[in-house]
Amino acid sequence: MSDYEPDNIFARIIKGEIPCHKIFEDETTFAFMDIMPQSKGHALVIPKTGSRNLIDAKDAVLADLIVKTRRIARAILVATEADGFRIAQFNEPAAGQTVFHLHFHIIPVYEGIPLRPHGEQEADHGQLAALAEMIRAAL
Ligand code: 5GP
Repeated sequence: MSDYEPDNIFARIIKGEIPCHKIFEDETTFAFMDIMPQSKGHALVIPKTGSRNLIDAKDAVLADLIVKTRRIARAILVATEADGFRIAQFNEPAAGQTVFHLHFHIIPVYEGIPLRPHGEQEADHGQLAALAEMIRAAL
């Protein structure tokens, strides 16, 4: 497994060098809308500490991250009225990982509506901004 590269897209989003539709931030965690969502409300939750993926993350980082992920998932369910949600997390390119900073996907699921493919189509930024605002309000 390669090393963590501190200049990856998500590290730059945390530093504010690349814009995002932010949902949540505290001292350890950052959450924002996925720009190529698989469903309405698809969001990403990342630790501020750099790790490439699940394998090299510290136990304490993971313990904190999953609790924050659940909190944000609850807010997404309220804001979107989704029927359920998936948590996804990919490790290494063979498994579909494309950004090498640990992240959990929260992917809302709606009865009868299939998920779009992973990372394929960029969403309308006005819609992403409106969703981020609704999710923030539900937190
Ligand atoms: P992975 O394939 O590594 O699990 O997921 C990376 C995710 O990041 C994809 O779902 C992709 O749509 C999303 N993504 C890639 N680049 C950006 C970006 O610049 N901003 C945001 N908000 N999401 C991104």
